Amino acid sequence: LKLFADAGGEVEGFHGGRGIIGAIAAIGETLEADHTYELLAYRKPENWGKPRSLNPASVKKMAEATKHETFGNLDPETGRVLVTPRGPDPVYFGVRGETPAAVLKAAKMLELGEPVERWAVFRSNQGTDAHLKTVKAVSQVPAYSCVTVEGHVSHAPRRFPGGHVIFKVEDGTGTLACATYEPTGDLTKIAAELVVGDRVRIYGGLRKAEPVLEATLNLEKLEVLEAVRTFRKVNPLCPKCGRRMKSMGAGKGFRCPKCRHRSVKAEKASVETERKLKPDLYLAAPRAHRHLTKPEERYGLEKTVMPGVYLKLRPKVFWGYGWPPP
Ligand SMILES: [Zn+2]
Repeated sequence: LKLFADAGGEVEGFHGGRGIIGAIAAIGETLEADHTYELLAYRKPENWGKPRSLNPASVKKMAEATKHETFGNLDPETGRVLVTPRGPDPVYFGVRGETPAAVLKAAKMLELGEPVERWAVFRSNQGTDAHLKTVKAVSQVPAYSCVTVEGHVSHAPRRFPGGHVIFKVEDGTGTLACATYEPTGDLTKIAAELVVGDRVRIYGGLRKAEPVLEATLNLEKLEVLEAVRTFRKVNPLCPKCGRRMKSMGAGKGFRCPKCRHRSVKAEKASVETERKLKPDLYLAAPRAHRHLTKPEERYGLEKTVMPGVYLKLRPKVFWGYGWPPP
């Protein structure tokens, strides 16, 4: 804060100064690299705290019509509308997208159930994975940090009551426990398919160790870089007639049920089993995303560093009273 004051900044703190650091960080982040836009529409004060109505069918229609231009509108698994917040805050809805023009076009397609007091388009780091720092070694993951790190699965996934799955990843410098919870949707099922030896890149936030639980990374994304081959043991085939032999008990060899051939020396054979899990990037369901998590729709749309270029894309009018926007 001293640094901020020395630079000529003025700070007014409420509730013990909560949010000041975040607000200063927001001013300092010029968003020249990857960024997105959000149009926020605000409610009239008399509607604050009341349930929000917004035609869900119009959200679906808008999402389809603006595919690759907007993101995070609906949860694809449940169909739940994600553009309206749940809490008592004055925001009616927010539409996130790639350009100011896209969020303006999309917002105007929504069928509203109440008047809009005012609206504004913000440039933001939402949906850019800005919170994730790449860490070189598992042992270097700092407490409370959000990271992406590579390693091998060292402990097979275990399912726990309540639906969460925990597995461990190591890279020679250390071991890290990773957890996925039910709200992440298919990510939990994907994690359960991991086997020891799979090479993975994990994305998520580290939770502090608790008395009964070691420090655990809450998984947001899982990239399977390499799925190892898996095998299962089967009884050998009969060398005389080719029929599958039967075990005569541990260490006692095998017997053919057809031609009665016996062999003490015969050993179980290995057969490769099919892995359902293929190398790919797997994301948590959007309803479990943080604001900053880059959603599936945004992959390939990342904006690269071109200082100044994006300022030219700034719309002439980026906020106003009432509805609709121009
Ligand atoms: Zn036989």
